Amino acid sequence: MRLELKDLKEGLLEQEYSCGSKDFPVLSELADEADVRFREPLYFKLRLQKTGQIVEVDGSLSAAVGLKCGRCLQPFEQQLAADFALTFSPLVEREEDAAEEVELEADELGLIYYRDEILELREPLQEQLIMSVPIGPCCQEKCQGLCPECGTDLNKAKCTCAKKPFNNKFGALADLKVEKSK
Ligand SMILES: [Zn+2]
Ligand SMILES: [Zn+2]
Repeated sequence: MRLELKDLKEGLLEQEYSCGSKDFPVLSELADEADVRFREPLYFKLRLQKTGQIVEVDGSLSAAVGLKCGRCLQPFEQQLAADFALTFSPLVEREEDAAEEVELEADELGLIYYRDEILELREPLQEQLIMSVPIGPCCQEKCQGLCPECGTDLNKAKCTCAKKPFNNKFGALADLKVEKSK
């Protein structure tokens, strides 16, 4: 997942990538820790344009991902699609102690530094994948979620909890807190 500047003939290159999850190590962490499971292939389309030493990338990604609904906790599949833009700039070698400063500067400007005429795409593409994952995944707009009292999936069945007076659990919790603070 790297490109050499010399591949950009006439300063322009269109490139498509069809990748596996193993190309992006963070994705397996996401699967383990956040129940976000990317399906293969992960598809990228990039258009790179070089102006001087700056390389601008217009990209899009599409991938299917298995998520867990935040309301009913059921797994579901969602198609992700996102457009993004990246700017690569050559890293100008500086004093050792200025390295941190350079990184901060790059973050502020939204630049990705490259060195030795090679653009490393893995990290920035991985970041785009992660950013395309919805923060509060929901299986459907009308998802009713789980009953907080008895755990019934309200998309599938009704329960009678809502009819009970509101609500013993919170009362008990409040008592507990008073107890503790004594
Ligand atoms: Zn749901
Ligand atoms: Zn219930």
